[in-house]
Amino acid sequence: MAKKLWDTSPHLALRAGPDFALAALDRSSTPGFTGDKADGQERMADRGELLSELQERLFADGKHGGTRSVLLIIQGLDTAGKGGIVRHVMGMVDPQGVSLASFGVPTKEELAHHYLWRIKKELPEPGKIGVFDRSHYEDVLVARVDNLVEEQVWRKRYAEINRFEQRLVDSGTTIIKVALMCSYEEQARRILERIERPDKRWKHNPGDLDTRAKWDEYQDAYQDVFRYTSTDHAPWYVVPADKKWYARVAITELVTQALIDIDPKWPNPRWQVAVQRRRLLSTVEPELAKHLEETVAEQLKEAKEEYGDYLALKDSVAQLKDVDNGERAPATTNSDQDNGEKDTESSDSSESSSKKSGDSAEHSVTKKSAGSGAKDSKAGSGSKKNTKKQDKKNKKKKSKKKGKK
Ligand code: ATP
Repeated sequence: MAKKLWDTSPHLALRAGPDFALAALDRSSTPGFTGDKADGQERMADRGELLSELQERLFADGKHGGTRSVLLIIQGLDTAGKGGIVRHVMGMVDPQGVSLASFGVPTKEELAHHYLWRIKKELPEPGKIGVFDRSHYEDVLVARVDNLVEEQVWRKRYAEINRFEQRLVDSGTTIIKVALMCSYEEQARRILERIERPDKRWKHNPGDLDTRAKWDEYQDAYQDVFRYTSTDHAPWYVVPADKKWYARVAITELVTQALIDIDPKWPNPRWQVAVQRRRLLSTVEPELAKHLEETVAEQLKEAKEEYGDYLALKDSVAQLKDVDNGERAPATTNSDQDNGEKDTESSDSSESSSKKSGDSAEHSVTKKSAGSGAKDSKAGSGSKKNTKKQDKKNKKKKSKKKGKK
């Protein structure tokens, strides 16, 4: 049987609950994971295959009227490894199905709008996995630490962000928020490496040292982000990031499990298989038609042996919820009201005009609960059997691949 590598699901081990204390986080720890770096890398490769399959299903579903999408929000201070997550985790899926947006210092045009304006423009369409490298959370992080707006302005944003994310979830987007947290010492090591290594110098921005000088203020600002915006509909997962391999395998797991929860199905064709087959085969000589039919039937048989029946079975992806610990956190509403500001519709002076038109209009497709947080996986012995079968198939597939190399 495959080694059980998660003794606690990252959904549980990393979720910022109401009592979460950032100061107590051991940033070189590997919560929930029982393996080492090599196990992590192997696990990632395994999950990558499933992730890729699920992403293709999501994409296909989106092309056929589906309303579901995923939004991965990545936050973290400089050198925390945000870019590595994009490359290593999202690099495992078809780039066609991914929309990536990075949010730097706002432009003049962006500053003239509500802070969510630029965010809304980049939200993933149905069928897509959107990835935000930094996000609207900068508007309660750098905006607070650098006093870019007054306290009463950024304080109101927590509740506003919660409402905004709730609407997104209601319209079919699963939101996964990850904060990569590395230690003060590890950040120094990474910055020094950037300064010293000619092939990394391009990444160093002298301004990163000014940000580093405000480390404690940023820790306080992040603590409040987790306190006020880790909601049941869009919880925060705080990822210790000193070990890059751990952050990658953990986020791979979070995204894969979110897709397993969505359980996107291959869309049914809007045409009749028999009619299309007949029509196509009538375009060639009968002998060739027969040969083609036999060849494709053989290929399908081989594919089934290699990949297993789960590609065809409607329910099997749902059963995969139980693969190597798919536990989900029970609902634990964080106090998103108790942030010193009541949940009012007021906004920054420059924001009021765009807000009303934008917030709800763009994301009100259909009401569907998307949260990955509250659903418990219920899989009986049947699904475990299925898991074993799948493990065996994966191994077979891998050894075949190795053989090919
Ligand atoms: P990164 O550090 O994210 O890998 P980078 O160093 O190349 O990227 P940019 O992407 O150009 O830099 O911009 C990141 C910077 O933009 C960060 O310092 C961040 O705090 C700042 N920033 C992002 N959003 C805002 C915002 N809403 N207001 C002010 N500054 C912001």
